[in-house]
Amino acid sequence: MNTIFKNAKILKTDHAKHNFSIVEGSLAVEGNTIKHVGEVPADFKAERTIDCEGNLIMPGFKNAHTHTAMTFLRSFADDMPLQDWLFNQVFPREGQLVEDDIYWLDILGIMEYLTSGITSNFDMYFFPPKNAKASVDCGFRTVQTSGLNNFGGSIEVVEENYNIVNEMSDLSSFIIGFHAEYTTSKELMEGIAGLAQKYKSPCFMHNSETELEVKECIERWGKTPTELTEELGMYEYGGGGYHCVWMSDHDFEIFKKRDMYAVTNPGSNTKLASGIAPIKRYLDEGINLAIGTDGPASNNCLDMFREMFLMTGLAKIKERDAACVPAEEVLYAATAGGARCMGLADCDCIEEGKKADLIMIDLMQPNMQPENNTIKNIVYSGSKQNVALTMVDGKVLYEAGKFDIGFDPREIYAKANAIIGRMK
Ligand SMILES: [Zn+2]
Repeated sequence: MNTIFKNAKILKTDHAKHNFSIVEGSLAVEGNTIKHVGEVPADFKAERTIDCEGNLIMPGFKNAHTHTAMTFLRSFADDMPLQDWLFNQVFPREGQLVEDDIYWLDILGIMEYLTSGITSNFDMYFFPPKNAKASVDCGFRTVQTSGLNNFGGSIEVVEENYNIVNEMSDLSSFIIGFHAEYTTSKELMEGIAGLAQKYKSPCFMHNSETELEVKECIERWGKTPTELTEELGMYEYGGGGYHCVWMSDHDFEIFKKRDMYAVTNPGSNTKLASGIAPIKRYLDEGINLAIGTDGPASNNCLDMFREMFLMTGLAKIKERDAACVPAEEVLYAATAGGARCMGLADCDCIEEGKKADLIMIDLMQPNMQPENNTIKNIVYSGSKQNVALTMVDGKVLYEAGKFDIGFDPREIYAKANAIIGRMK
């Protein structure tokens, strides 16, 4: 199906400067690809023409770290210390999940992503093929990595999932990774490094989320999590870490040398009191940044507008510098940075030949007026109420508050409530 967006403002990305400009005109989508930007030839045939009425077409947000199916634990156990929350509340319930649960819980998360203008996610959870099926059935784009740790799974299963998920659909891909140093044996980490090298894949893990995690890693190995995994050979083809809050000078050097991504999760870091990531330093040193919500048990919402505001707001407090981490860098990390981190370079901006993973932002709402600076408006005053339309792979999956993913929302809510209701 072909679609024309007319009377649009179109957000164009300057990758060299991490900045944006806005042009007025039309945009044409042919199948799943952006065919024309600015002007659409009169003979371009489209089944649908959408009049944007002066609203903004921009690249969709990329949620670069999450555990989508944890929707069942949203607001289930909050306001408690991290270790108590994780070991006494989260792990016992996760142990009761069956494979079919993942499917419904993922769809609930995907619906929430669409309402926030998120067009793809980088997911880590159990049963990756089931997770991929939920995304593909909805028409949503999901990149996965493994959550391998000492409590389940094996290198063989990670390899099997890598192949199944990468071959399932164009909407589904898999990058090598594992849960974290503090949950994973050296033997398993060596196996993961072997897979990253065998498949020439980047490699990701939860890295330096808390001060205690880094301290205990140094006690165990005499090295930080970044140093240890680098020495094991995980990053020959790049990769990165989720959180990256407590980083040493040497860790920064390794990230730079390997062209790695620091995926920041400011909402989760705030709620779990983990600390504030050194975002200004990542920018000063030219290290790639992407943004994730982390899972809905630790955040609890899957909303990139809140993450963007927290990313810059927390950095400004940390540095006591209101000039650091400007809105343009935040928006770049939330769109192009995330896309490139997830191996989706063809979804990173609005340009001819790129995949049509895009959103329409309703500028005709009070929080987006006046239009002194639309980029600043998106980051500082924007919210999911401004997401008028979300298109993934050329298909409109969410528009004017309604979903077109093949499921009745009430059915999905009933399934999610039944899953948590069943648990002890
Ligand atoms: Zn996480």
